[in-house]
Amino acid sequence: MNAAVRIDPETGLKVFNTRAAKASEKITGKGYSVVTDQRLTELPEMPAGATFNAEEQAKYRAFKEARAGAANYMAMEGEFKKYLDDVYSEPPVPREPLTDDCEILVVGAGFGGLLLWQKLSQAGFTDVRFCEKGGDVGGTWYWNRYPGIACDVESYSYLPLLDETGYIPSMKFASGFEILEHCQRMAQKFGFYDHCLFHTTVEATTWDEASGRWIVKTDRGDKMRARFVILANGILTTPKLARIAGMEKFKGTAFHTSRWDYNIDLRGKTVGIIGTGATAVQAIPELAKIVRQLYVFQRTPSSIDVRDQRATTDEERRTWANEPGWARARRERFAKISEVRAAVLANDDYLAGKVQDFKERKKYERELTPEERMQKQLDASFRLMEQIRARVDAIVKDPKTAAALKPYYPYGCKRPTFHDEYLPTFNLPHVYLVDTAPRGVAEINERGIVHDGVEYPLDVLIYATGFQWMGTSTFQQITGRDGRTLKEKWESEGARTFLGLHTRGFPNLFIVTGPQGGGGSFNFTDVIYAHADYLVWMLQTMRERGACIVDVRKEPEDKYAEHCRDVDIATAPLRDCISYYNGEGKAAPGSLAYYGGRQWDKFRVEAQSSLEPYVLGADPS
Ligand code: NAP
Repeated sequence: MNAAVRIDPETGLKVFNTRAAKASEKITGKGYSVVTDQRLTELPEMPAGATFNAEEQAKYRAFKEARAGAANYMAMEGEFKKYLDDVYSEPPVPREPLTDDCEILVVGAGFGGLLLWQKLSQAGFTDVRFCEKGGDVGGTWYWNRYPGIACDVESYSYLPLLDETGYIPSMKFASGFEILEHCQRMAQKFGFYDHCLFHTTVEATTWDEASGRWIVKTDRGDKMRARFVILANGILTTPKLARIAGMEKFKGTAFHTSRWDYNIDLRGKTVGIIGTGATAVQAIPELAKIVRQLYVFQRTPSSIDVRDQRATTDEERRTWANEPGWARARRERFAKISEVRAAVLANDDYLAGKVQDFKERKKYERELTPEERMQKQLDASFRLMEQIRARVDAIVKDPKTAAALKPYYPYGCKRPTFHDEYLPTFNLPHVYLVDTAPRGVAEINERGIVHDGVEYPLDVLIYATGFQWMGTSTFQQITGRDGRTLKEKWESEGARTFLGLHTRGFPNLFIVTGPQGGGGSFNFTDVIYAHADYLVWMLQTMRERGACIVDVRKEPEDKYAEHCRDVDIATAPLRDCISYYNGEGKAAPGSLAYYGGRQWDKFRVEAQSSLEPYVLGADPS
């Protein structure tokens, strides 16, 4: 039975068959290699007593100020729309537009969508439909397939549903290709494919007060009605390009890292890559292994911490095979780690439950004041960044290149990166760092990039210029009560949500891992679990109470927004640089990411026990 849409005779529900075939078998790759040279897998000694004094603070300030206003990005529109083409799948499976009803419509088939389906179906919610822009599941891991791609949260805590699928990742930091396969495994095992409309982009989501339903329009001509809409479409989904004069003139091949075209043979080519964020740091060492010449155009260096990749051991496999729930227990231990670097290094003894804590705790004679605590954190961040900078000097031979590769901002202010092969790559004779600090690449012509009066002719130009942070267009196309759009609400009042999951005036709309949607962990998967569990609870609670509509009251929403703002302001010195996390230095405090850690749980638990923030209503139709 190959019909794209058919009716299940038992349930009367529609069953979909819209997964697209793979476009190419050339897609291969691997993530971090195991590096055995200890000098590359350890940071130099921590400089004792180094403090973030006035002189060092001034250096950080100057580094930041020089870059103020340099970030200039653009959406892939008009002639640049071609950069958005799905290079991974065959064209969409043809199907008729849908104009029917479903109970729950979820946008996105990444980790969020896959986990939601497993949890919702277990809880008895089966009339669930997913709309996904890509041709298969995976989300981030569908789109990002550049060579070298891997996760930076240890895979045993990061990959969802390991207990339920019986899968054990092959490496401590799994490659993106292994993660994509795991997404497909989850989809197969739990029957996700039957529920998903692939190659379907939601274009408008409008609340209909009279029927108490959302009307969801897509680029496939669908006009569906859903009781509930869940946005699980991710926060770094929409790729962006740097806006550079003359970029439309380039005659060579160009693409963005999130649409890596493996049909383009890079062997023997002169390749340029713009950007040195987390993506470029992983791709550059792999690119250097195949191209003839590699030019890396850097505006701001990333902090390159150690990765220390390893394979999963036989002992781990044996232990976990006899320990039901091992992954859940490990993820819960991981969630208790409250420091960014401890989280990313992921101490095995602690995570395996062999020791009680992930670090030795200092005992202070009295409780530190908030100012003292902040100073201690800034000093610790400074010392760690000194180690990161010392590592550059220890590895990179050319002093000018080494100087350019040293970052001057607090650790974690830009996304920390990890690699044991990245810095040595700059010692290779065919790899060149072009330091475009502080303003970045500003000119492109027919042949390549021009910087400081020097032309760099290129066969291939790769944009490693990132994604719109929380800027997915889905957020821009939602119209709630009284015809007010979400965009209008957030532009006039600032981002305003309750728990990041609800936003007043948009009943029955839930946002997974959106603005203000903390879950209190460095592991994104943990946040997705927390949100999925919350949504199952919410839908079950409504079912038990015979309610069909949920909105939130103004006062708890205002209080939560104020809390997001306060925790952002209180911790801001730890993130004092220009980064997409803070809207390149322009976002209102508390409007994007959440910095309250576990405090999110307090708000959630209170709300779940009192139900006081919610306004529950009956079916109006
Ligand atoms: P990104 O962090 O936003 O990096 C964009 C890069 O482009 C920055 O280095 C930026 O420099 C540079 N740039 C922009 N315009 C430029 C210009 N005109 N000239 C020169 N350079 C320019 O994007 P990304 O690396 O794709 O990473 C995005 C996010 O995806 C990560 O932060 C992470 O959350 C996720 N990711 C995760 C993993 C993982 O888990 N391992 C891997 C890859 C990506 P400035 O810094 O000066 O702005």
